[in-house]
Amino acid sequence: MTDLSGKIAIVTGAGSGIGRASALLFAEHGAKVIAADITDKVNDTAAENPEAITAVTCDAGKEEDVQALVAKALELHGDLHIFFANAGISGGFDGIFDQSVEEWEEILRINLIGPFLAIKYAGKAIADKGHGGSIICTASVAGLRSGAGGPAYTASKAGVVNLVRIGAQQLSGSDIRCNAICPGLIETGMTEFMYDMVRERGMEDKIGQLNPLKRGGEPSEIASAALFLASEDSSYVNGHALVVDGGLSSSHPYSRQKFGQTST
Ligand code: NAP
Repeated sequence: MTDLSGKIAIVTGAGSGIGRASALLFAEHGAKVIAADITDKVNDTAAENPEAITAVTCDAGKEEDVQALVAKALELHGDLHIFFANAGISGGFDGIFDQSVEEWEEILRINLIGPFLAIKYAGKAIADKGHGGSIICTASVAGLRSGAGGPAYTASKAGVVNLVRIGAQQLSGSDIRCNAICPGLIETGMTEFMYDMVRERGMEDKIGQLNPLKRGGEPSEIASAALFLASEDSSYVNGHALVVDGGLSSSHPYSRQKFGQTST
């Protein structure tokens, strides 16, 4: 079994969805986890495993909060090995002509500057300990090509994909790996409105039909990828953006053949 015992991990956006599932999974695999979120709903996550999880309310896109979050891990546990910079907002689906600079600034602040701050402060803290570690940032398939989110969201996630490459390079020699995860469509707080809308219309079977697995993903399926990247199971994976999308981004749009059908 993947072992995180003795490891100290921070997970942001841990009050809901992917972050919540990851905090719980890391704890289940032996880590002590600092679960952070913008609201105190993160207390519910910690209540699921109070021995292993400490809840902290903070803004993952604010420099002093991220600095304080890293300091909290060191104060509580004297160490840090893993930072999963996962908090994010969608910012809605308005097009490029309808989004304001203020909306762009807020989306980039949380989705891109947040992961930058994680690498900056966790990278330094882990490097100072000299034992290596893992920084993981949540990007998205929206960061690979357009069509899976609003303009600022898409740009922020593309930024995260490249940020982990520069993170891996700049942490060179520290044995700290820096990777991203690009989830496809996952049922979480962020996509709840869409799932609700589709269910209300009795069209649940349409969810995820664009990918070859023909279903949406679960937060636990992204948490498993985060666990892999957090642990020594991925000891030679660095500067990589791991796509976990049921195959959604593996093709250009086309008329898919049914299984067993041959082309003529
Ligand atoms: P979620 O259920 O909404 O979880 C995100 C959590 O982050 C929420 O609890 C949210 O609080 C919190 N948060 C927002 N701003 C924050 C801030 N400044 N500081 C700390 N916490 C903050 O959505 P999710 O899908 O699990 O999202 C996790 C990550 O996955 C995000 O980066 C998202 O972009 C990415 N992602 C999601 C999907 C998907 O289909 N769900 C696909 C690709 C990528 P509030 O609810 O109060 O905002």
